Amino acid sequence: MQASGEPSFRESVDLMFNRAAKLMDLSPGLEQKIRVCNSTYTVRFGVRLRGKIETFTGYRSVHSEHMEPVKGGIRFALSVNQDEVEALAALMTYKCALVETPFGGSKGGLCIDPRQWDEHELEQITRRFAYELIKRDLIHPAQNVPAPDMGTGEREMAWIADQYMRMNTTDINGKACVTGKPPHAGGIQGRVEATGRGVQFALREFFRHPEDVAKAALTGDLDGKRVIVQGLGNVGYHAAKFLSEEDGCKVIAVIERDGALVDPNGLDIEDVRQWMTAHGGLLAGYPNATLVADGAAVLEEPCDILIPAALEGVIHKGNADRIKAPLIIEAANGPITFGADEILRRKGVVIIPDMYANAGGVTVSYFEWVKNLSHIRFGRMQRRAEEARSRLLVEELERLSSDQHLGWTLSPDFKEKFLTGSDELALVRSGLDDTMRTAYQSMREVWHSRKDVEDLRVAAYIVSISRVAQTYRSKGL
Ligand code: GLU
Repeated sequence: MQASGEPSFRESVDLMFNRAAKLMDLSPGLEQKIRVCNSTYTVRFGVRLRGKIETFTGYRSVHSEHMEPVKGGIRFALSVNQDEVEALAALMTYKCALVETPFGGSKGGLCIDPRQWDEHELEQITRRFAYELIKRDLIHPAQNVPAPDMGTGEREMAWIADQYMRMNTTDINGKACVTGKPPHAGGIQGRVEATGRGVQFALREFFRHPEDVAKAALTGDLDGKRVIVQGLGNVGYHAAKFLSEEDGCKVIAVIERDGALVDPNGLDIEDVRQWMTAHGGLLAGYPNATLVADGAAVLEEPCDILIPAALEGVIHKGNADRIKAPLIIEAANGPITFGADEILRRKGVVIIPDMYANAGGVTVSYFEWVKNLSHIRFGRMQRRAEEARSRLLVEELERLSSDQHLGWTLSPDFKEKFLTGSDELALVRSGLDDTMRTAYQSMREVWHSRKDVEDLRVAAYIVSISRVAQTYRSKGL
């Protein structure tokens, strides 16, 4: 228990697991085996910076090795601690099982404020941390494959990949030791946007089911829905941008660390993001909307969809009762505490749970890992063949039309779209869309078919836990 009277993040994840496990027919031994975190490695290392030795603490936690490699991001933040990485590693296990990426769950973290160091210093720190993990096989293409998380991105992943390859010069699959790399360094198109894109695809799938929409006391589709986004980092920014630019949502508020921007007519997300990039990540002074100093209070404003996309525990027992959104999609990991989850459920709020909602990142990581192992870009073999077949059909239709004097003309827009073969980005988005739809359907099937399953989170846990259990059973455990 923490001072707030709420369980810690890891305890919260375990309590959510237990809610689902008690509805399942698992042997007690197996239930325990799945729940516990297998191992957490802590490292303290020194780096000579600015004339003195700075000591850093980092972690890599492996929750479950029922499938290998294990997968999960590396976070750079001052709030990183063992309890947090273990909770996040557990969520990775369930997330990977839910979206059928063939991985166990892991997570890493470095206790650091990345803003405090310049690029060169960060490179030295990252490489040293990576070195400590690589020499213990805690970064390895077949065993443990990190990815970006809060405070890290393409740049850090490129350093980690390079560090691994320096230490394993003959490993032909070396690039697959980490995902989220920049495309020019073995990455894949669409990885940066992937988690936000996944949130969009998750909401689109939710709104394809009027029964589910009705459970949240909403109607219709995404068009015109009022959205509040907390956190305009990589995930929040992409989700807000795609939902407003492509689905007709109105992002009426964006909450950040220095307050919230509010505009009932909908914010221009690209404009806000550009302002933040130019002003050190701050919203203050943005000319085209009202700044509210108490950002947390804006979480409680009326809206149709609330998207917490920042830290864990932002919706807790202290504010859950005042949340007015009928639908919450957890773009962050663990934004709702166990206690808050209970309060919200009692109020009838529908929660699309984190292990599903933010699985777009690891899904596209999976595609990147496969690309690295196959050493070829997706679409390279098929794209022109696909175009040639389409052209054949178009030419035949045009010939028929003129020979038979039918007067058909294909619209130029159709022709252009039909004649363009799928490139890597199109294939990645298609694979992600398919994954998000399929995973949602597997959750809703449990949600609707069982009377004892009240919410999507329990449904998600049931789907995931049974898949992990099945893998363990087939291994003879
Ligand atoms: N850090 C992301 C997550 O929490 C991505 C993990 C990955 O791609 O392996 O899901």
